[in-house]
Amino acid sequence: MTLQRDQSEQQILWLHPAAPAKPATGAPCNGCGLCCAAEPCPVAFLFLWQRKGRCRALEWDAEAGLYRCGMLLQPDAYLFWLPHIASGWFSRRVRRWIAAGTACDSEAELV
Ligand code: SF4
Ligand code: SF4
Repeated sequence: MTLQRDQSEQQILWLHPAAPAKPATGAPCNGCGLCCAAEPCPVAFLFLWQRKGRCRALEWDAEAGLYRCGMLLQPDAYLFWLPHIASGWFSRRVRRWIAAGTACDSEAELV
């Protein structure tokens, strides 16, 4: 799968064949995973120290047939310093920071 970022930049990504197609920018997020497969968001940048490439917290949910954010689902699995008891609290913060479940804000296009 090839991602077109702008006129000059393309990136090849691997996404699960059963993943839904990316919706139009502004449409409800459907968990296609494209944005997180392309680059880390500020949460990954800050807490996972990931500066580029596919986010390591991107998880495929086979039952639902979509991608989910591991930092939302089980942040203590990615952050060794986070106690399990604080995982729910942290997850709620992440939900707000990444605006999970809202509109697709990725302007990337597949070519
Ligand atoms: S924000 Fe957009 S590109 Fe990212 S997972 Fe949701 S629908 Fe896909
Ligand atoms: S932390 Fe979550 S929302 Fe951010 S890039 Fe990784 S999987 Fe996507």
